[in-house]
Amino acid sequence: MDCAQNLPSTRYNGSMKVAVIGAGAAGIMAALQAAPGIQAGGLVSLFEHNQTIGRKLLVTGSGRCNLTNDQLDPSLYQCADSDWIANFLDAFGVAELRDVLERLGIPTFKTDDGWYYPLSQSAHSMVEILQERLLEAGVLMRVATEVEWFGVREGQFELKLNWNERKTVERFDKLVVAAGGRAYPELGSKGSLFPAIERMGHTVQTLTPALGPIFVELGAFKMLKGQRFDAVTSVYMDGERLGSTFGNLIITEKGFNGPGVMNLSHFVGLHPGKNLELQVNFLAPFWEGMAEELADLEKARGSLRGLLLRALAPKAVDFFLEQAQIAPGTPIKSVEGEQLLRILRVATDNRFRIVGAGDFKNSQVTVGGVSVNEVDPLTFESKIVPGLYLVGESNNVAGPCGGYNLHYAFGSGILTGKHLVSSNIKE
Ligand SMILES: Cc1cc2nc3c(=O)[nH]c(=O)nc-3n(C[C@H](O)[C@H](O)[C@H](O)COP(=O)(O)OP(=O)(O)OC[C@H]3O[C@@H](n4cnc5c(N)ncnc54)[C@H](O)[C@@H]3O)c2cc1C
Repeated sequence: MDCAQNLPSTRYNGSMKVAVIGAGAAGIMAALQAAPGIQAGGLVSLFEHNQTIGRKLLVTGSGRCNLTNDQLDPSLYQCADSDWIANFLDAFGVAELRDVLERLGIPTFKTDDGWYYPLSQSAHSMVEILQERLLEAGVLMRVATEVEWFGVREGQFELKLNWNERKTVERFDKLVVAAGGRAYPELGSKGSLFPAIERMGHTVQTLTPALGPIFVELGAFKMLKGQRFDAVTSVYMDGERLGSTFGNLIITEKGFNGPGVMNLSHFVGLHPGKNLELQVNFLAPFWEGMAEELADLEKARGSLRGLLLRALAPKAVDFFLEQAQIAPGTPIKSVEGEQLLRILRVATDNRFRIVGAGDFKNSQVTVGGVSVNEVDPLTFESKIVPGLYLVGESNNVAGPCGGYNLHYAFGSGILTGKHLVSSNIKE
């Protein structure tokens, strides 16, 4: 595939020097979109303190990279300003992302539930392709280089760099901060540059881990450790429902993990010390069919255990029957109303006291970060410091599981790169 024909044909003002901090989804895209217009030598420097680029990308979607979702909607994002995220999504939707990826040589496909992946289903393939494109575009990939600090000096951005303990200072005309949040710090994003961002006059809203496990008092459910369920879960604070989600979850030593609870974990960090409960409905997706069968007991065949086994593993079925004090062999025909209520309660309305949630080490994203009102949602340029761009997870935007976060990271990087080009075309 000839990618060059798809790259912007514009030329930068020859003296333009652009620094991009962070070779994650956002930074790679910003550099890729900005660099091709630059002549010999390349004036976009992409700084990454890992030895290689895209380390977090490699682990996304369990190595398959779930990159966007059919159901993109502003209401699904944690963002202080819903108009802001709506403006971004209007400008940059699924079609726009797929188009850019296709042009880069990364075709995508959609699963039945609307989640998009690269055709290769391999995050490794995708990162290799991106690396190839960065080289072709002439981006200076400066890996193993920590940006220790940045500020403004004499009208330029000054970066303090540390490459193998060799410390240098360099100046740039434009600066893109794509250094991520604080989630999964071992992959590179530790939040070390938030103080420098604040020093520039920006507000950094409290950073809270999100998309992580929820820890509860499991009680008797401890014996179901390792069991997986498709469940509807809800978090309550003093009886008021804060949020609900549906997905697969696993019972762990300390509580629950998996997509079925991850979308709710940030509520724990946002309400420290509050009386929080997790309600789990283990039968939600199956209950309708079962209820039909139970509605006509005369016609019902087999045992209640057999009915529950259609949806749940034997260990879980035996556990729920025991909790409901129903003998395992009880035929459906002879199930009494009171017994039905008991099995319903134990399988569909369990309330667990929440005692904590995953920290940054085991949560996938960060809620909080740079206040979005200080950043243009269409160009990602700072409204406070011209020439400074703030993108990706560094900003106070977080989506649920399903490709929403990569969509935002890729999209913010792409819009930034495009703006860097369009605002610097030679007359
Ligand atoms: C296990 C896991 C699975 C995930 N799966 C999905 C998924 O399937 N779909 C989805 O949409 N989202 C997923 N996410 C979330 C998604 O990966 C992130 O939201 C997204 O990658 C953020 O991109 P970013 O470029 O803003 O930040 P990052 O990917 O964190 O990139 C920031 C980069 O900046 C570098 N950096 C930071 N500070 C410095 C510095 N001072 N100097 C030099 N370099 C620096 C870091 O090393 C890093 O490479 C997942 C996250 C995790 C942890």
